Amino acid sequence: MDLTLHLNPPPTEWGEVRRGALYGIGLKEAEKIIARYGESPYRARQLVEWLYHRHVEDWQGVSNLPKSLLGKLKREFLLKSLTLKESVKSHAGQSVKFLFETQDHHLLESVLIRQQGRETVCVSTQLGCKMKCVFCASGRSFNRSLMAGEIVEQVVWVEKNLGKRVSNVVFMGMGEPLDNFEATMKALEILQADWGFRLGAKRITVSTVGLTPRIEEFVKRMGGRVRLSISLHASDEKKRNELVPINRRYSLRGLVRTLTKIHERLKREITFEYTLLEGVNDTPEEARGVVTIAKPLRAKVNLIPYNPIREESFKRPSRERVENFREILLKAGIRVTVRQTAGRDIDAACGQLRLDREGID
Ligand code: SAH
Repeated sequence: MDLTLHLNPPPTEWGEVRRGALYGIGLKEAEKIIARYGESPYRARQLVEWLYHRHVEDWQGVSNLPKSLLGKLKREFLLKSLTLKESVKSHAGQSVKFLFETQDHHLLESVLIRQQGRETVCVSTQLGCKMKCVFCASGRSFNRSLMAGEIVEQVVWVEKNLGKRVSNVVFMGMGEPLDNFEATMKALEILQADWGFRLGAKRITVSTVGLTPRIEEFVKRMGGRVRLSISLHASDEKKRNELVPINRRYSLRGLVRTLTKIHERLKREITFEYTLLEGVNDTPEEARGVVTIAKPLRAKVNLIPYNPIREESFKRPSRERVENFREILLKAGIRVTVRQTAGRDIDAACGQLRLDREGID
């Protein structure tokens, strides 16, 4: 099997999906495939619905397509590109970590979080990450970006395992979604389409480290509907340079300027994520810094008390310190949530997804 396609994402155009897996194609690609086979155009919709509505796992499961068409598809394409290897439940049963293997034998993780009547899948977009935020385990290595199919299949197989549709999808697993731009855009199209997962844009959140030009492009292409979450982590350039190295290229100042434009033009709701590291960015002065950034943007702030990764270079702040930080934001009239970290016991909390289990066969 030719793996080039799997190694060179994104497979968005017809030419690139050849010999790839069918999961990851959109209706347009399906139409091109069907037209080329000379089959009736309505078969295209049937095909994508088999994928995204019915989550078909093997060719035997496909019942209402002509044998001749199935034969051609089988010869030309793989059906899926991920294999579910293992799922691990947290003690409280609130979250489940799913371990998948890719066609080229890498492992990747997704997490299902069940909270307040919602089932949220947290998907990965890359194998590792290039951003190298100092407190995040995913940035320890980078292998490759995922294809659109590999992103949406995480949702497919979680739903199949769960026996029902999930209510929300967050792009907060391994990787920087906007550094894998086209595949992320394709996955977003599939998640929202009526032939796809039919998820409302408000139920999807893309979290980014702050690649400013890509944020602009993202908002333009998405028409400002999918939720956007920005990883802030510091309120001044110097501290952000230390914690989030990409800040040296895309400064906080430029980022805030762009977010201001987006806010003014589109009245979009913006969320900031802020990982609290004891003694590093959790002082009252820093909380006031966050106020100066979040307040004019009417942004919501999501505080994430640091989740330790195995090498302990940072500390999770005490409840009291978290509470003090939160109070300062609240008093300034900012909406603030503290992320309840589900899944810490199974290394499935924010920043704990990593690539250190490479090499199982
Ligand atoms: N690349 C995306 C998604 C990252 S994961 C982004 O940067 O937004 C989602 C959030 O978890 C990010 O805000 C990330 O900085 C944060 N995070 C990473 N490691 C963490 C850790 N060990 N503890 C708490 N939060 C962490």
